[in-house]
Amino acid sequence: MRVCLLEAGGDGRDLLIRAPMAAAIMLPGKPIKVNNWAFETLPQPGLKGRRGYQPRGKALGGSSAINAMLYVRGQREDYDQWRDMGCEGWGFDDVLAYFKRSENNQRGNSELHGTGGPLSVAFQQSPRAISKAWIEAAQQCGLALNGDFNGPSQEGVGLHQVTQFWDDQRNGERCSSAAGYLHPIMTQRPNLTVITGAHATELLWKDRRISGVKYRRGQQFLEVHAQAEVLLCTGAFQSPQLLMLSGIGPAEHLQSLGIEVKQDLPGVGANLQDHLDVTLAYHSLRNDVIGVAPVAAWQLLKGIQQWRKDGTGMVATPYAEAGAFVRCAPDAQRPDIQFHFVVARVEDHARRLHWGYGYSCHVCVLRPHSRGSVRLQSHDPLDAPLIDPAYLSDHRDTALMVEGVKKLRTIMQAPALQSYRGKEIYTAGIETDAQWEGYIRERADTIYHSVGTCKMGAAHDPMAVLDTQLRVKGVLGLRVIDASAMPTLISGNTNAPTIMMAEKAADFLLP
Ligand SMILES: Cc1cc2nc3c(=O)[nH]c(=O)nc-3n(C[C@H](O)[C@H](O)[C@H](O)COP(=O)(O)OP(=O)(O)OC[C@H]3O[C@@H](n4cnc5c(N)ncnc54)[C@H](O)[C@@H]3O)c2cc1C
Repeated sequence: MRVCLLEAGGDGRDLLIRAPMAAAIMLPGKPIKVNNWAFETLPQPGLKGRRGYQPRGKALGGSSAINAMLYVRGQREDYDQWRDMGCEGWGFDDVLAYFKRSENNQRGNSELHGTGGPLSVAFQQSPRAISKAWIEAAQQCGLALNGDFNGPSQEGVGLHQVTQFWDDQRNGERCSSAAGYLHPIMTQRPNLTVITGAHATELLWKDRRISGVKYRRGQQFLEVHAQAEVLLCTGAFQSPQLLMLSGIGPAEHLQSLGIEVKQDLPGVGANLQDHLDVTLAYHSLRNDVIGVAPVAAWQLLKGIQQWRKDGTGMVATPYAEAGAFVRCAPDAQRPDIQFHFVVARVEDHARRLHWGYGYSCHVCVLRPHSRGSVRLQSHDPLDAPLIDPAYLSDHRDTALMVEGVKKLRTIMQAPALQSYRGKEIYTAGIETDAQWEGYIRERADTIYHSVGTCKMGAAHDPMAVLDTQLRVKGVLGLRVIDASAMPTLISGNTNAPTIMMAEKAADFLLP
């Protein structure tokens, strides 16, 4: 079998990608876009008409090249729900082997973890003291310590494991999916051709079959033809975009843009789900967090030196070093809220920097009910897709987020953080639920886990785009293998689950 891989961005090897702390340079998407598509959403009625920001990685490795590296799988029940929705073969007991197969986990081999796989999963070697203080604060508020969010139970508080190398040569470097899977074999496999800077603009048809891809490289439009299959892996915004540009999607929408309908699939671009996130932020009385100050420049230089020497220190940070999964709804049987504790004051995706030192913690509802969509703004493939997450369009999400933020406030006020705690920045004085709701609507935005826009599902589900082998319904020779295939958002971060899906898809492809 011969494989040709097209990627719109670069080769994903640059220092900004390898050095975890440099995510803060790529994330903002301005003043220049570095390895980032940097999309925006449509104005969100649930967020007082604000537009959200949607960074997406643009390089080999995709968003795993710019993400926070947190290795989280979600909960057993998420996958069992997929199975119960008609996705046979996708229950937790079915997918566990694929999570394990992908892993080279520093924990070693066990019933739940694997070693020897392409994806390096590491313990954080040098978390900041404040992360440990935050964990202690959460314990003071009744949360149990959890040493493995991907262990028998997700519930509790602890340090994240991260997709980072832990071997001697590359210790402390980011392990994007490209660094784990692709870079090591790129020059060694004669049957693999990788073309970067190649923006796919359209899928090519031959009768009912997808026979290739048209792409733009520089000023040229080129084509690549497939003998076996085309695998679309352009993510939760751009996979539905490319399908629709190629005549696969909701007929009415395509017709309204003058695109010939080749396959009417109403589910393409529907069912968009994301983790909306809101932050509590504090000034820090101590400077052993990440900040903006003259001494911070000195700290950074020392950090770079240390990281170059042994891969540890400040430059190795995933920012969200600690986290917790908690139950907030009164009847919750399993965690329904996630906290990400961040060792800096991050505002507006690091697009707004502030003088001094601070820290922050993020709250998101793990299984939101709100559903949005992705649509085309025109038939021009170079136009950004129209992204409408419809945040907080379901009042249950708002109510639960209010409970989450109240719970988080108690942790942020706990004694263990006393030596750090300066002024509460945005939320001092907020007490009532109505005030919290106002704050959320004013400030919340994504924590980057968009999924569901080409969902797989049972044959009888009219909104399913893919069958359970990720083949596009009614079309030959085409699969979608990325986060868009998830029928529902899992209870956690979405990188490891996406990689798991790709591992499983490999078994569908190989003879
Ligand atoms: C800032 C950020 C932080 C995150 N933090 C975490 C985290 O800490 N832990 C975690 O588990 N998850 C995290 N995530 C989410 C996780 O990284 C994504 O869910 C995951 O990478 C999705 O994988 P994907 O394959 O669906 O899409 P992507 O990773 O986005 O990959 C899509 C690829 O397709 C390419 N592409 C798109 N359109 C075209 C086209 N037309 N032609 C050619 N190529 C194209 C893109 O350039 C990209 O390389 C984060 C995401 C972001 C953006």
